[in-house]
Amino acid sequence: MTQSDSERAQQLVERDRRVVWHPYAPPQAEPLFAVDRVEGAEIHLTDGRTLVDGMSSWWSAIHGYRHPVIETAIKEQLERLPHIMFGGLTHEPAVRLCERLLEVAPRGLERVFLCDSGSIAVEVAIKVAFQYWLSRGRPERNRLLTVEGGYHGDTFATMAVCDPVNGMHDFFRGVLPDHRFAERPSCRFDEPFEEHHIADLAGKLERHRDEIAAVIVEPVVQGAGGMWFYSPAYLRRLRELCDEHDVLLVFDEIATGFGRTGEMFGADHADVSPDILSLGKSLTGGTMTLAATLVSERVSGTIAAGEPGALMHGPTYMGNPLACAAAHASLDLLETTPWRENVKRIENELREGLAPCSALPGVGDVRTLGAIGVVELEAPVDMKIVQPAFVEQGIWVRPFGKLVYLMPPFVTSSEQIGELTRGVEAVLRAHA
Ligand SMILES: *Cc1c(COP(=O)(O)O)cnc(C)c1O
Repeated sequence: MTQSDSERAQQLVERDRRVVWHPYAPPQAEPLFAVDRVEGAEIHLTDGRTLVDGMSSWWSAIHGYRHPVIETAIKEQLERLPHIMFGGLTHEPAVRLCERLLEVAPRGLERVFLCDSGSIAVEVAIKVAFQYWLSRGRPERNRLLTVEGGYHGDTFATMAVCDPVNGMHDFFRGVLPDHRFAERPSCRFDEPFEEHHIADLAGKLERHRDEIAAVIVEPVVQGAGGMWFYSPAYLRRLRELCDEHDVLLVFDEIATGFGRTGEMFGADHADVSPDILSLGKSLTGGTMTLAATLVSERVSGTIAAGEPGALMHGPTYMGNPLACAAAHASLDLLETTPWRENVKRIENELREGLAPCSALPGVGDVRTLGAIGVVELEAPVDMKIVQPAFVEQGIWVRPFGKLVYLMPPFVTSSEQIGELTRGVEAVLRAHA
């Protein structure tokens, strides 16, 4: 670490603090670290330090950073067609991507709407569900049913289905639409599912079915709302209940999609298909912002047959060819790399490596599924202390509240996973 590198980093942080607003941060974010470049599973800070990445840039960089296959695809697309409006025009990268998404997605989904971020993919899913009922002449079906502990995005429609306690319901009371909430699926991933695990949701579905357009959940793994893993059998029962009550089922796989849980999609653990599916995050392997909403023929056909017959949505950067090219390349890598073996290996290494954390004071629960390892604490961490402590350990880990979690790129080596788990244990031992 030379003097000038750390000065450069310091100056960048100071300039940032004058003009930039960071996610979920006050105007002057703290602490803040300047990044110079990334490679594989490593982040190189401007001050010369190197960190092992435990976050995949929020679930996204599944193949590691700067994968040559994705970089080449973006460069080649850049020289041909970087962007063009999608109204009235189409192009190979978008059409091929939609074809390929339908091939890999749970069966029964037959049409793709491309959009530019995860929250918007959920907004579109909600809009599709409401338009479906408007087209059927049932405008009173205008509420959603979801479970506690969910996270579906930061826009107003999506915030309204985030966890009512950890989300922003109290803060934005009176502004958010009012939806129905049931208890979160209480059966752990490998626990036998019993009817009582879904009884609260089943009761609410039965009581309120005449006002409910759709049930929306994150299959198998609830992400930012609580990092909770639940039984795939819950999803099979949920599908039955939705069919019984003629309610649409929406899966938000923005976090779980593309291998993170050990299967291509969370829904694949249960072999269940939703009526509407939202994808995002790792869709482009963490390089470009792109998301998608997949819809069944029954839903799109009903909207086509109603008034106005069109889906009333259309982002300016819809179907961005650069992002579509990156997504193709990421799907190529999912076809050609041993990601399943890697995720399995990482799962075992996270389970073993995080096990000692269970014995630490202040730790409530330790759980692992696929390439996700979670240490749930009894009290929220103090970010001003633990964030620099993780960096001192040479790892990038960004907890929220009581949850310290790892979701490294699938290419992370055993040695690097060891650095991540040892670093987490050391920091929690010192500070939790
Ligand atoms: C991140 C996330 C979103 C929101 O995606 P953005 O790209 O951040 O808007 C929605 N749903 C789930 C499950 C997510 O993990």
